[in-house]
Amino acid sequence: MENLNLVKNVIVVLSGKGGVGKSTLSVQIAYGLKALGKTVGLLDVDLCGPSIPKLLNLEDCTVHQCDQGWVPVYSSQDKQLSVMSIGFLLKHKDDPVIWRGPKKTAMIKQFVTDVCWGELDYLIVDTPPGTSDEHLSVIENLRKQITGAILITTPQNVAVADVLRELTFCRKGSVPVLGIVENMSGYICQNCSECIHVFSKGGGEELAKQENIPFLGQVPLDPNLAMCCENGESILDALVHSNTKDAVLNVIENL
Ligand code: ADP
Repeated sequence: MENLNLVKNVIVVLSGKGGVGKSTLSVQIAYGLKALGKTVGLLDVDLCGPSIPKLLNLEDCTVHQCDQGWVPVYSSQDKQLSVMSIGFLLKHKDDPVIWRGPKKTAMIKQFVTDVCWGELDYLIVDTPPGTSDEHLSVIENLRKQITGAILITTPQNVAVADVLRELTFCRKGSVPVLGIVENMSGYICQNCSECIHVFSKGGGEELAKQENIPFLGQVPLDPNLAMCCENGESILDALVHSNTKDAVLNVIENL
């Protein structure tokens, strides 16, 4: 694990379901930490649905080799965020990755051992939804380095129930849980400032209380954020300047 020797903290971002904003929040947390002066890397282990290259507008980037291994891609707007994703290794960005478990495990091992991360305060690991080969590989390969996991949910019961499974997974794998974030938690009306709870309310917070783990905060629904991610325009600006920014910084403070 020489390539990880200089990485101080590894934070794994998990969710029970897809579409709850795990990748978006991984990027926002990475940028939030960077804004606080930390050196940060972002590892996307969602092998079948890598979205980090698109979110960061790095879809055309490829990985280069050096004597020590793979050189991560650096985010175009700010050279200090190093990023690794299978998306950078595909011939065509829309190529599907149809792999069985052992191949996925080998790929993740390579991400951990062969990428020259250098000196980092934080390595944020964005995972696919659920608890599958990718998650087991991350735990197996990074066990000693993992600082903890952040669990992302939306507020409604059906998503929260899945987070409980992630929590059990962490406990069984002896991964410390840093806390739960409730994303898409209410929409603040631009006209009357009333908070509309589109997807129910408070499920993540309740679960945190019930399970005696920290609640890291709520992040509101922001149509501008969704729209910019959708259009592939000014994504970074949207991630950094959207209404969700303060909420994400609050999450980071609570870590
Ligand atoms: P996951 O990684 O959990 O599958 P994504 O990060 O890809 O989820 O987010 C799914 C969709 O939800 C994306 O279109 C993203 O722009 C949008 N999204 C995520 N968080 C928010 C938010 N707080 N407000 C509005 N849209 C959001």
